[in-house]
Amino acid sequence: ESKIKKTQTEVLIIGAGPAGLMTACWLARTGIPFRIIDKRTTDIFAGQADGLQCRTLEIFQSLGFGDRAWKEANHMLEMAFWSPNEDGELARSTIIADTIPGISRFQQCVLHQGHIEKWFNDSINKWSGGKRGVERPLLPLSINVDESKVDDAEAYPVSVLVKNLTKDNERQKQSIPEQFGAKVENGLYRQFDGDQEKFYANLKTDIEEDDTIDKEEFEVIECKYVVGCDGAHSWVRKQMGINMEGETTDFVWGVLDMVPLTDFPDIRKRGAIHSKDSGSIMIIPRENDIVRLYIQLNEIERDPATKNASEFGGGIEDKTAKTKGRVDRSKITPELILKTAQKIFAPFKFEMTDLSWFTGYQIGQRVSPKFTKHSNRVFIAGDACHTHSPKAGQGMNVSMMDTFNLGWKLAYVIKGLASRDILSTYESERIKVARELINFDHKLSRMFSGKPMIPSKDALTKGEGVDMDEFHKAFYKGNVFASGTLVDYSASTLVVKPETTDDVYFESQASNIPIGRRFDTSLVVTHSDARPIQLVDRMLSDGRWRVLNFCGDVTKSAQMEILNKISDFVYAKDSFRIKYTPVNAREDSIFDVLTIYSSKRDSLELFDFPRLAIPQDHKKRRNYWKLHAGIETTLHEGECNAYKKYGIDTEKGCIVVVRPDGYVSMVTDFSLDGYKKISNFFDEFMIPQTKNILPPQSEDDIDRF
Ligand code: FAD
Repeated sequence: ESKIKKTQTEVLIIGAGPAGLMTACWLARTGIPFRIIDKRTTDIFAGQADGLQCRTLEIFQSLGFGDRAWKEANHMLEMAFWSPNEDGELARSTIIADTIPGISRFQQCVLHQGHIEKWFNDSINKWSGGKRGVERPLLPLSINVDESKVDDAEAYPVSVLVKNLTKDNERQKQSIPEQFGAKVENGLYRQFDGDQEKFYANLKTDIEEDDTIDKEEFEVIECKYVVGCDGAHSWVRKQMGINMEGETTDFVWGVLDMVPLTDFPDIRKRGAIHSKDSGSIMIIPRENDIVRLYIQLNEIERDPATKNASEFGGGIEDKTAKTKGRVDRSKITPELILKTAQKIFAPFKFEMTDLSWFTGYQIGQRVSPKFTKHSNRVFIAGDACHTHSPKAGQGMNVSMMDTFNLGWKLAYVIKGLASRDILSTYESERIKVARELINFDHKLSRMFSGKPMIPSKDALTKGEGVDMDEFHKAFYKGNVFASGTLVDYSASTLVVKPETTDDVYFESQASNIPIGRRFDTSLVVTHSDARPIQLVDRMLSDGRWRVLNFCGDVTKSAQMEILNKISDFVYAKDSFRIKYTPVNAREDSIFDVLTIYSSKRDSLELFDFPRLAIPQDHKKRRNYWKLHAGIETTLHEGECNAYKKYGIDTEKGCIVVVRPDGYVSMVTDFSLDGYKKISNFFDEFMIPQTKNILPPQSEDDIDRF
């Protein structure tokens, strides 16, 4: 009989970086019991990733903390490119918009990772009623999966043995950043692997047999699902026996966060400098007058003693180590990085003060061939699945997007609302994004790191090196990609479009709503109180599906007739809404139907509309927030025209189905037939509800999923 205590939870998240915290945030928001553990003793207070891309900001907004990001972060509007001119002197070659205008209502901004993790922690605390938060320092030691139970949705087939490190001084020390000579916080403690190996070395795992071990420190957590968000050297990935694929030769990037003292005029713009012979720099202007520099350190010393080191985390062979030895991390100092920077900035002066963080960041371009194992019981996400250079500010963003994709699916399956099959779309949707990201980074890195071509004085000859015009163009295209707004999920049970290789697909009823991409916002006007509002701000990430009735011009009686019929259909006993909503839940707990008409707002009265558009709850309180004018001259914010933005016919309209994560599932006719197609779509994966499975909802809990 084991003396080690056993506990149960629905989901165990391993690793509390951005990917783990996003998973936790979704699960807290949707009321799923979970635990999130991290081996590190503390949160991070400085450094690491800092770029927040448009799509990430849109999602933060939908989770309720977009305003904090917008207020606290530094906004980057322009990007300046510098390279040698015809005389070989450093000169500004062009300036472009950092976020390409029109792709989102937000623009890229930057702030250090610690703030971002704090917003998540606050949100998790709020949505779980203070019940959940990161548990640290907890270290997982083994994962066992009972394969005979993986297909049983109710089972807890995964057991993870964890160790609480609070009493393990030796290992705790290892989870606190080492400071190599410098007093400044740095990231050198984590990035060079061997660390994960070292961490686990000599740890007794056969605890059951060993009577000398203090059993209090151990716990077996039985769970339905494990999400491994434990970073680039993922222990979970290793337990799954998955090796990363891709480049094995790593570049070393020096990173400095400091306040610059310089006469370089573009220091508060994002910048890329290609010097003639001294390498390249990326400039990231940050909050509180900080500027971050990314510099490729080509001349960094290797440690010959580590020649032929065979393991490079997660079973990766380190070819660099084999030939030259590992990078000697104690040689990476702020002084070394600064000296390299000064050469690149010359003839401009460059000194620094208030150094707050530095690192030598070594990373290859790799992607995991699998994101899940054991019949979708164990997942990996974030850096555990993909690593690449930091230049396009993608690491943290794509990591969070992975689990933003997964979190709601887990919630639906755990609540018994949807079949386990939908979990397969996590890997199929996100592996495609990871591969695109690696290709993109590969191309951009080469151009960034290459020597610049010196423009020729006579137009006929072309020099050697990277053509700076090509580089600017690639960056422009890259900025669109990096924004995250173009992510395009392929046809699946959750996305209705043909299985085609052409990745942008539109239905004729909405020629500007790409199916499989995120639903972009448009200003609309709330019918009841004239307030202009972004449509997506009525579609928060609360776990619900959105069915958008673009009902066209309902001053025409035929069109209003269709809306009336649809309303009856949605309230009929055999409708998908009733079938798939738990018996004791609010009527819009799972499907939130919004209506957006094209008619003039003052030509319609609230009570011209059927129940669907102005529903009442059990106490007969009306919901005034589901009915909107799509075309209107607002009192203070100019014109809005959602029909034009989405390419929808103002007479006939259409229906759009949007997933809980904001991606478009389908577009169909605004008709009863259209609603039948939507029913068929949900029939594919939703589970009919016969029981009260949700906790009864409180009266004030308006939008609880
Ligand atoms: P991480 O943020 O790496 O989080 C993983 C978490 O898992 C950590 O909290 C870790 O303590 C925990 N963990 C690891 N192993 C275990 C285990 N066995 N058990 C329990 N917990 C575990 N990106 C940029 O864009 N710019 C940068 O300058 C930059 N610098 C970086 C510097 C360093 C030192 C590192 C490590 C990363 C840097 N990145 C940078 C990358 C960026 O931080 C990541 O892409 C992003 O944080 C990925 O998020 P994640 O949640 O997947 O992983």
